[in-house]
Amino acid sequence: TAAAPAYRRILLKLSGEALMGGGAHGIDPDVLERFACEIRDLVADGVQVALVIGGGNIFRGAGLAARGMDRVTGDQMGMLATVMNALAMQDALERLEVSSRVMSALKINQVCEDYIRRRAMRHLDRGRVVIFAAGTGNPFFTTDSAASLRAIEVGAELLVKATKVDGIYSADPVQHPDAVFYSRISYDQALREGLKVMDTTAIVLCRDHGMPLRVMNINESGALLRLVRGEDIGSLVVS
Ligand code: UDP
Repeated sequence: TAAAPAYRRILLKLSGEALMGGGAHGIDPDVLERFACEIRDLVADGVQVALVIGGGNIFRGAGLAARGMDRVTGDQMGMLATVMNALAMQDALERLEVSSRVMSALKINQVCEDYIRRRAMRHLDRGRVVIFAAGTGNPFFTTDSAASLRAIEVGAELLVKATKVDGIYSADPVQHPDAVFYSRISYDQALREGLKVMDTTAIVLCRDHGMPLRVMNINESGALLRLVRGEDIGSLVVS
């Protein structure tokens, strides 16, 4: 049998954009199923998995505000978009017989549970995947900040930010082929150099509460499982 996983509880942040696959918006069912399979494998290995999913594939508050909408209204629409993504992920997981619960920071309790920290932790203890929806519930925040916040709140041992690139580079590797890959950096270096890791609020929360952060490529199949089994995958941000 496989060795015990290196982590008991992790929080995985998936951007809304990751769900689009090759499309321009919305959810690609094949991509959704692939992510759900990756998560199922983690659960099967005995890892407790919490998820935060973004909403950028549907609406972003800042984008709507740029076209004239009130920013707070735009952010509320963005938060509702994350609920839709969370429901889609819950559905995909349940089809794979992975028990899961959506918990929303905004009260929509005919559709999903309200976020209650102690209840979330109990779901996790029982091996259910908990999908935290509606970000932090507040405008002017991002789902990256929600991921840091929830990871700290529920005592995750690691925050994993799943991206389209292999980890953290000194510059955008697509535009700058000579960009340097960082396998390990400090929160302060990430902040100082303005590296595209997560937004400042999210990084500062991780730094101030000692939450280790891994940035990795979600499109590399099996990488998440290798990560929770202790392999050094992607970039690690620590103090
Ligand atoms: N949002 C918000 N408060 C939060 C989290 C998200 O207002 O705590 C809104 C915000 O408008 C954001 C949108 O929801 O643009 C979608 O989240 P995000 O942009 O973080 O999604 P991602 O980029 O991860 O797909």
